[in-house]
Amino acid sequence: MLAECALCGDEAELRGSHIIPRFVFKQLKGSSASPFLRGYENPDERVQDYNEELLCPDCAEHLNEFESPVAGYIYHPYQRGNSTSFSHDDWLHRFHVSVNWRLIHSDLSEWENLPRHQRETVEDARDIWHDIILNDEPVHKDPFTHHMVLFSDLELRTDSAELPERWEFY
Ligand SMILES: [Zn+2]
Repeated sequence: MLAECALCGDEAELRGSHIIPRFVFKQLKGSSASPFLRGYENPDERVQDYNEELLCPDCAEHLNEFESPVAGYIYHPYQRGNSTSFSHDDWLHRFHVSVNWRLIHSDLSEWENLPRHQRETVEDARDIWHDIILNDEPVHKDPFTHHMVLFSDLELRTDSAELPERWEFY
């Protein structure tokens, strides 16, 4: 069935896209949480293999151009314990943008319930990030900051409900 691609807007046979990249989930050991997503309470069951028909094949391929170097040059070397320092290029910023853009578009996302001024900020981010990942706008046009903190395996000792608000980890 043809539907509109969330990124380029073309009518296409959409592909199931992971909202949180699959390579991240391959490393999870039952301690993931993302309050941004409704799957929070049962993250492994509900989010791990969760995907949505969001992107046309071309856009899915395009986003993969940012995902592959993050997996190959940062994530896996770190997980193997080989590296703690990494060289990177724009693809790292574009990767962060693409994940956050997918979170905004996800059916699981709950930002529509935020107060109006926060909703407007999310809408601004969505539009700016859309241009950065679809039209290859330079990343310096992104006024938002993204942080990626790498951890070894974590064991969750705090009740999920006690975690700070807007704390995301995968
Ligand atoms: Zn597309």
